[in-house]
Amino acid sequence: MSSRCKHLDHVITVEPRTPAGCEKCLEMGSSWVRLRLCLECGHVGCCDSSPNMHATKHYHATHHPVMKSFERGEDWGYCYVDAIMLDPAPRPRVV
Ligand SMILES: [Zn+2]
Ligand SMILES: [Zn+2]
Ligand SMILES: [Zn+2]
Repeated sequence: MSSRCKHLDHVITVEPRTPAGCEKCLEMGSSWVRLRLCLECGHVGCCDSSPNMHATKHYHATHHPVMKSFERGEDWGYCYVDAIMLDPAPRPRVV
């Protein structure tokens, strides 16, 4: 299933930096449709259905490859590099 993604060592335990919503949209006073959480740094960004697509912009700016849905009740992730869904969302490796 999700074993094709080679970036799961990027997945660490992150605290959402802005649990209230998309970090950039909150700054701009904009709105979003759905939220994505970066599993490398805890950045919260809005999805590609949102006007500003900050989650994808975050990937292009940082190259953090793996995010997961930050929507309640959803448990899936996505690797931007491999362009594959990760279902269920990857868990941080316990060291
Ligand atoms: Zn990957
Ligand atoms: Zn946003
Ligand atoms: Zn990040």
